[in-house]
Amino acid sequence: MRFKIWEDFLALVFPNTCSICKRSLYRFEDQICRFCEIQLPVADYHLMPYENDLKQKITGLAEVGRVLAFLRYAKRGRSQKLLHQLKYKNKPNLGVMLGNRYGRLLLENGFAGTWDYIIPVPLHPQKLRRRGYNQSQCFAQGLGEVLEVEISLGISRSKYTATQTKKTRLERWENVESVFEISNEELFIGKRILLVDDVLTTGATLASCANCLQMVSPQSIDLAVIAAGN
Ligand SMILES: [Zn+2]
Repeated sequence: MRFKIWEDFLALVFPNTCSICKRSLYRFEDQICRFCEIQLPVADYHLMPYENDLKQKITGLAEVGRVLAFLRYAKRGRSQKLLHQLKYKNKPNLGVMLGNRYGRLLLENGFAGTWDYIIPVPLHPQKLRRRGYNQSQCFAQGLGEVLEVEISLGISRSKYTATQTKKTRLERWENVESVFEISNEELFIGKRILLVDDVLTTGATLASCANCLQMVSPQSIDLAVIAAGN
């Protein structure tokens, strides 16, 4: 607890501190210090996007093509610290920065021009109000800037209500606690989509969202997350 107060104090006095180790940043550093940057647990899913453990996890839940993750997730590791900062410390720019970095890695590995739209998995409206931003959308924005792909917010999420039972199957995809809805169904027909979220754990949310998208006949759906793992 004492350590946390000290951390908060430092953040107040030196607002530009590393999101991972809290050291104050040099002007040329962006949100994380050089030391933490070289130690980021960058994963190699981009080297085998069609065959990896994440793809295996999703197969059976949804029909997708490539499955990608920027970082390996480990409890109490650097990626967890980053995600915590991104979600709970009002740091939307951290998501954009991570998207920029991953975008560059994907460009270097031949992913240029392979998507028509990047779609972030939407947040619950309640959560969005509380947080003020959707961290997956920030990551999507960062990816889109570098890969030069348009971001679409064409999928929304709303609480399941009785009135939604009257909608057609195309208009809703039932999840346990929420539904995904597509606002413009024609937009994604025949398109190559990259669906983006912050983490992949069980894969249930991403699969649910991908299944919703499959109903409007895109050419392909790939998945990318900031971090994935145990
Ligand atoms: Zn650092």
